[in-house]
Amino acid sequence: MIVSKLQGHGAYHARVIRQWIHTFISSARLPLHHYHGTKSSILEDEDISLEIQLKLSARAKEGFIKAQDVVEIVASPEIQTRLAAAGIQKRNIKERTARDWLQKFKWRYSKRKNGMYIDGHEREDVVEYRKGFVKRFLTQYNPRMHTWDKVGNETRPSTYVLPTPNGARSCRLILITHDESTFYLNDQRKTHWIHESQKNEPQPKGDGASVMISDFLTSEWGLLKSRDGTREARVVFKAGKNRDGYFDNSDILRQVDLAIDLFEDQAGPYVQGLFLFDNAPSHQKRHPDARSARHMPKNPKLNWVHHKEGLRMRPGVLPNGGIQSFYFPDDHPEYPGWFKGMQQILKERGLYPEKGLNAQCEGFKCESGKSDCCCRRLLFNQPDFTNQPSALEELITSRGHLCDFYPKYHCELNFIEMYWGAAKFHYRNHVTRPSNLQEMEARIVECLDYVPLAQMRR
Ligand SMILES: [Zn+2]
Repeated sequence: MIVSKLQGHGAYHARVIRQWIHTFISSARLPLHHYHGTKSSILEDEDISLEIQLKLSARAKEGFIKAQDVVEIVASPEIQTRLAAAGIQKRNIKERTARDWLQKFKWRYSKRKNGMYIDGHEREDVVEYRKGFVKRFLTQYNPRMHTWDKVGNETRPSTYVLPTPNGARSCRLILITHDESTFYLNDQRKTHWIHESQKNEPQPKGDGASVMISDFLTSEWGLLKSRDGTREARVVFKAGKNRDGYFDNSDILRQVDLAIDLFEDQAGPYVQGLFLFDNAPSHQKRHPDARSARHMPKNPKLNWVHHKEGLRMRPGVLPNGGIQSFYFPDDHPEYPGWFKGMQQILKERGLYPEKGLNAQCEGFKCESGKSDCCCRRLLFNQPDFTNQPSALEELITSRGHLCDFYPKYHCELNFIEMYWGAAKFHYRNHVTRPSNLQEMEARIVECLDYVPLAQMRR
């Protein structure tokens, strides 16, 4: 409710937000992006809407976008065909509508700054991922969770016994959601700002007068704390140069490790946690010893490791399922303990051709569709190189719990949004500005703790 007030909407909107989550959980349908104000059946079709924005962003690369561009894109034969196929009656728009649309699309463009750009390739990925996520939620997660209706009555699933890959009996699942949010001294804006996909340095926001909160919320007990309430999962991080630095993958791993301790303390032994995260690149990072064909030399090399002063690369998996060390044994007559190099690794997999093979195609720009043109491409496509979980997932599954990532562009599914919203509402409600960062931090924590559980559950 408070989240919705913050966005300038009333009780109706609050119900809509809740409805999205219920619809999502109960019917596998993800909410369409709703554009408030003018209703347009064209924009309500999410795929078409994305398509239009895709074309717009392509035009934006060439310069400014005008309302006329939107009109032209909608009138293009390609979009017209799709609109007709979708059964949309009114298939053309006026310039005035186009201007409204541009306003509504703005949030999407602002997201590009966070590295969530739209291009054809990513879009396909996004759609596929979203389908997979919904399927996992419906078939694997939701049947094992307790749910609450609008007035707070609890519904338990009739059984927790479900077929699992190893045939084991599966136990009850509790959802724990994670998110990061930044509070500013002057204005409070929601951000996801340290994305490692961005090549440039992370930008400290404003004058550094900000505090980032990384926190966990459960569907069961609200904030994640120990049973006696003395320990909490929350991390208060003062990001920026000369402060705590930047909240990176190792920070989140440390926090998750603690979060699992607290969860197990609360839940006891017969419950499994489902830890859900934002799809940010900093969350997707693999463990430093993960297999990677990048930078690998073709020939044996002494002391070779993938990352500077890093760990040895973990062993690979041979086509017959056996383990393959990437390093020669320490008693090897010629190369004791050396890194094997791509040629040897491929030979042991029976993939190295007799006539030889280049280390890589020029600039690793292989002809599209080719998978055996060079050593690096061959290794790149090996299943044990492609299917590697993130460090987060490895940590969580190694401790017996589940890890998943929200689909991109659907942060509204994360019920922690309501918690941020409510906390920020309280924070903003203070008449005076905090006079220093210490005071600010204390106030933020006070506001976060103020949010009641019932508000988050609904
Ligand atoms: Zn190649």
